[in-house]
Amino acid sequence: MKEFESEIIKIRRKIHSYPELSYKEYETSAFVARKLRALGMPVRTRVGGTGVVGLLKGTRPGNVVALRADMDALPVTENVDVPFKSTRPGIMHACGHDTHISMLLGAAMILAKHRQDLSGQVKFLFQPAEEAGGRGGAKPMIEDGAMNNPKVDYVFGLHITGTESSKVFSVRPGPLMAAPDTFRIRIMGKGGHGSEPHTAVDPIFAAAQVVTALQGVTSRLIDQREPFVVSVCSIHSGTKDNVIPDEAMLEGTIRTFNEKTRTKAKNYVRHVAECVSKAFKARALVEFKQDEYPVTVNDPAVTSRVVSILRKIRGTRTIESKQIMGAEDFSRFLQKAPGTFYFLGTKNPKKGCLSTNHSSEFKVDEDVLKYGSLSLADLAYEFGKPN
Ligand SMILES: [Zn+2]
Ligand SMILES: [Zn+2]
Repeated sequence: MKEFESEIIKIRRKIHSYPELSYKEYETSAFVARKLRALGMPVRTRVGGTGVVGLLKGTRPGNVVALRADMDALPVTENVDVPFKSTRPGIMHACGHDTHISMLLGAAMILAKHRQDLSGQVKFLFQPAEEAGGRGGAKPMIEDGAMNNPKVDYVFGLHITGTESSKVFSVRPGPLMAAPDTFRIRIMGKGGHGSEPHTAVDPIFAAAQVVTALQGVTSRLIDQREPFVVSVCSIHSGTKDNVIPDEAMLEGTIRTFNEKTRTKAKNYVRHVAECVSKAFKARALVEFKQDEYPVTVNDPAVTSRVVSILRKIRGTRTIESKQIMGAEDFSRFLQKAPGTFYFLGTKNPKKGCLSTNHSSEFKVDEDVLKYGSLSLADLAYEFGKPN
């Protein structure tokens, strides 16, 4: 492993210094393609945009195992002083996708070196635009055939996390991450004078009732045993202190962990917004953004095998992850093949690695990278063996 560690860190630092935003990962994907080709494998580029797919063939028959890394950075100005700091103002690898790329390239190096012992085939999925909300890169990659030819039997993805201690893997069977649904509620009233509200239809008053009533969806309409969050995160209306405006606009998000609750919750949000507005003579138009990420569901049988494989990696610990209200478009790959999405902690107070992902002060303990590479390589090696 020693021989690869310094190369993995070098790659990570290089990518960290030139971060690229969603669907603009041009230099990153060219770099990834070069590295994969240098390992002697066929490479497809421009898969679903800026995606790259490499394929490593083992010497024995077996399963096709896909390993995925996302490649995009965030519109954040880096606030960490490291020699390989972002050279692009306002853009930073603040979610750690730079480490995902380097760890997956590290796994490719390990597997290519041990190709003689490898069963099946390993597909390396380098995905654009995980941070792009519903327009994330997993979907176009799948539509572009990334999970076929050869058809993927198992798929695995690894995310680094600043909230867990360094060298700790966390994993959970079943629903792991939420489905995020974004809504917009336009409440239409009738403008008038602030002193004569009875002659107008006040959309601000109706909007305030809707915001309050929506919390009743959580406490009174959805089964309390189902995780569910509804948050109104923006309200816009009005221009002056004595003018009742015509309209109010609310925007927010709901988070759910299964498709049934998701459908129910969306229907209730619509119902409550419409009926409460109607009670005060206003009209609500409720829209949900289409094509949001599905729930990330880890296959229970595969995941219990993953746990036993991770537990064998010396120098690390494996614990059960909590359910996370955030979302991931790795969920789309999991709809195509059974697999597991898991985390590797990087929090290390001694090295000043304390901030969470997406923070401008996000700093990674690079000692964990080799373990990430090893874990991906081990999963490909073990799941590649014929069933
Ligand atoms: Zn992120
Ligand atoms: Zn991320």
